[in-house]
Amino acid sequence: MLLSWLIDDAEVRPAGAPGLGVFATADIPAGSVVAAFGGHMADRATFEALPGHRQVHSLQVADGHFLVCPAEPEPADHLNHSCEPNCGFQGNVLIVTMRDVARGEELTFDYAMCDSDPYDEFECACGSSGCRRKVTGNDWMLPELRGRYRGWFSSYLGHRIDELVDDTDGPLG
Ligand SMILES: [Zn+2]
Repeated sequence: MLLSWLIDDAEVRPAGAPGLGVFATADIPAGSVVAAFGGHMADRATFEALPGHRQVHSLQVADGHFLVCPAEPEPADHLNHSCEPNCGFQGNVLIVTMRDVARGEELTFDYAMCDSDPYDEFECACGSSGCRRKVTGNDWMLPELRGRYRGWFSSYLGHRIDELVDDTDGPLG
C-alpha cells in the first residue's frame, strides 16, 4: 500500500523541466483534494542525515519536524513547484485545487506554501510570468505571497504567518 494518495484523475509523466510531473487526465473542479502526503516523521537531526533526494521530496510540517517520503518516490511525490500554482494546502498534508483545472494541466503548488527551511532551495524555471527565479525557504514571508496564498498555506506556515503579523506588521491589508 502506498503512503501517499493521488487522485485517479491524474497521472505522472515527463514534465517540461528534467524529471516528472503530475498532470490532470480530466477536468478537476476548484476545491478538490488531489493528493494527500504520507510518510515517516523525522526530527531535524534524522532529516538532515537523509540523502538529498529524500529531503527534497519531503515536507516540512513544523519547526524541526519533517514528513519524509519513502525511498522509492510515489506518484504524489512528483507534484512540482510552480510560482503560479493551481493547488494549495488544506492542513499540512492535503493538496487541493485553488481553481478549476483543465485536463492536461500540470498540478502544482508553490513550495513557499509549506517550506520555511533551506533544504530545498533551487533555481526555478517553472516558466510562469511571475517566476521568482530562485525559490528559498524564506519566500513564505514575502508580503505579496502572503496575500496571494492567504488560506492556502500549510497550517504550519499559516500559524507562523499569524505570529509574524502579530509581532511586526499589523494586520494584512
Ligand atoms: Zn518559478
